[in-house]
Amino acid sequence: MENYFYYDEKECQFIPVTYGPAERVIYTLSLWVLVGTVITTISLSLLSFSAGSPSEIALKAENKALYNQLHETKKSIEYLDQQMAMITSMDNDLYRTMLGIEPISDDERQAGVGGADIHARFDAYSEPSSDLLRWTASSLESMERRINIQKLSFEEIKAHYNENKELMSNIPAIRPVSGIILSGYGMRRHPVLGYKRMHEGVDFRARVGTPVYATGDGVVKSARRWRTYGLLLVIDHGHGYETRYAHLSSLADGIRPGVKVERGQIVARSGNSGVTSGPHLHYEVVKNGDPVDPLNYMFADLSPDEYLEYRRIADSNPMSMD
Ligand SMILES: [Zn+2]
Repeated sequence: MENYFYYDEKECQFIPVTYGPAERVIYTLSLWVLVGTVITTISLSLLSFSAGSPSEIALKAENKALYNQLHETKKSIEYLDQQMAMITSMDNDLYRTMLGIEPISDDERQAGVGGADIHARFDAYSEPSSDLLRWTASSLESMERRINIQKLSFEEIKAHYNENKELMSNIPAIRPVSGIILSGYGMRRHPVLGYKRMHEGVDFRARVGTPVYATGDGVVKSARRWRTYGLLLVIDHGHGYETRYAHLSSLADGIRPGVKVERGQIVARSGNSGVTSGPHLHYEVVKNGDPVDPLNYMFADLSPDEYLEYRRIADSNPMSMD
């Protein structure tokens, strides 16, 4: 603390000013209040500089919510993209191939998408946002394009179907039993032998005695007992197609080689004969002598959603019932 003086006229000299204890406390206190006020003001202005004013804070929150929503939208688009890819492959590999129509190439399905950057307007925004906006916009355009092509393809298939009714009624196209699928086509662990081997059909859950339907029009080729297949029924559908129904408990009345059958007709009862790990129906589709994935031959019966569900179950179970 500095020293202050006052001039005493009587004494004709400077006398030092002295503070009493109370005055000293007030002086010190007011100094601290002053310093405190300055520090608080500086801190507040620094804080508002970094966090923003209330309206800026609200805008930031809104921005964050929009960005998060955009992220969610991206996930939805990715999911739809997968579904679309599945429908596209069903269209090419199933419907078109089966009817002998040329598959549509990926290039054709994607044509007109991309090219010149028409989303340059998003470049003004910060990078994560502009990337996301650009991706979302172009993905939606691509999706729209693919859906339109898919619609045209279905129109073409419909027209083709009407011209090929005989073929269409012969091709296996429904489920052989009404139960759910248990195991799919492909390499599967055998339930009795224990090692992996080719599972040439699909297994359906079916109690002993469940009705088994012919999956297309045709002629009974054979019906006899085998050691592994148990009681096996084979139907010849012409056009190179054959279906096999294994582990049966019995044949329907009148079912014997040479007899004509229609799609949806009860031809047998499922069972547990031959080598199995329990009652089920093992079903095979053979095309030109080679087994193919029967799941691709249920298109008249399964909705796209059911197909996807069956596909998921078929692909996820590593074990067959055989
Ligand atoms: Zn099987």
